[in-house]
Amino acid sequence: MSSKSFQTLAATLGMTSDTQFGAVTPPLHLSTNFTFDGLGRRREYDNSRSGNPTRDLLADAIAKLENGYGAIVTSSGMSALTLLTHILPPQAHVLAPHDCFGGTHRLLTALEKKGVLSVSFIDFSDLKELERDLIQGADLVLVESPSNPLLRIVDLKKIGDLCKEHDTLYAVDNTFLSPALQRPIELGANLVIHSTTKYLNGHSDVVGGAIVADTQDLHSQLTWWANCTGLTGTPFDSYLTLRGIRTLFARMRTHLENSAKLVNLLTQHPAVKKVYYPGLESHPGHHLAKEQQSGFGAVISFEVQGGIDQVKVLLEHLKLFTLAESLGGVESLVAHPATMTHASMTAEARKRAGISDQLLRLSVGIEDGDDLLRDLKKSLDEVQNSRIKLNQAAAKDGLLPMGLI
Ligand SMILES: *Cc1c(COP(=O)(O)O)cnc(C)c1O
Repeated sequence: MSSKSFQTLAATLGMTSDTQFGAVTPPLHLSTNFTFDGLGRRREYDNSRSGNPTRDLLADAIAKLENGYGAIVTSSGMSALTLLTHILPPQAHVLAPHDCFGGTHRLLTALEKKGVLSVSFIDFSDLKELERDLIQGADLVLVESPSNPLLRIVDLKKIGDLCKEHDTLYAVDNTFLSPALQRPIELGANLVIHSTTKYLNGHSDVVGGAIVADTQDLHSQLTWWANCTGLTGTPFDSYLTLRGIRTLFARMRTHLENSAKLVNLLTQHPAVKKVYYPGLESHPGHHLAKEQQSGFGAVISFEVQGGIDQVKVLLEHLKLFTLAESLGGVESLVAHPATMTHASMTAEARKRAGISDQLLRLSVGIEDGDDLLRDLKKSLDEVQNSRIKLNQAAAKDGLLPMGLI
């Protein structure tokens, strides 16, 4: 590990690496191919699918920030997960979270249908269940913490210990926190997955991914498959993502500061039924999050009082939270999981996963926290007013006693 802090690494990795002109910021190498020095004399690079100087700078930065051996930069978070499936043995058995990212669920289920692998979706908070499954034999354990959208936390270190005991490959999708707030390899993970689309790039203008390996052997297997399948990221996307990483820690500090303010409002407002945020003492994963993370993250989920009509009122009044999927950008977003990110699940499956129609998910940006606070408060006040009006009307019609909505 470097003696520099991770924040310094993020701000400086790849800087002053240009040997030709001494450029402070590294140049962008768009070239698809590179000359040979002579017959049989290959230089460091030959073809940008297999290797590219700009992409390598980004890979090196992500690997160092995750404290890993090396990283592969891929064209999306999903292609990083696809790459992961390529290093598994034939007919591999995969253990994945029952509440994993929708795209991950779809990928693993589709590969199972084709007979490529088999998958069990399990609850990783039940370590006894995990141990039973590991004894029966598994080739890969893939976890996410915090989970989406309910921010469930699982014990990364204990899962790591069990995987080690059973000699099982252990991968953690660290997209929701980034290495600024959590470094799974230090807790025993062999591989770390990122959708760099989210916090690492942070500006909602690149779809990208990465997979970090803890050993040279894993890294070289991934390098081979990345070139073979061609799912490596483009130089321009790599350039932008490396540029985004320079401000990762500064952005994250503001993300966290704003999130704390909004959580405080949400827990006190009468129009809010329940708040899901690991920073809350009442959150079941609070102590674990405190141990294994260095911040509680900037995704907050909550249920509004009432039903879909109250959700509509809230969404109509929010000005600074844009209704959109994804997360991790500088701009604040609000999503309605039941009709957006988790719409492909059946209503029954959503219910089992605890995703109600009143649930909203915020990706808290880096705007002025007080502006965000005012916007959310004003919109929640409108929800509250609409409930009071509804209650009064219902009581007048003799339909409902006051206070039932
Ligand atoms: C977004 C996301 C992905 C997929 O990433 P893309 O870049 O959209 O392909 C994977 N895992 C998690 C946890 C995500 O949030």
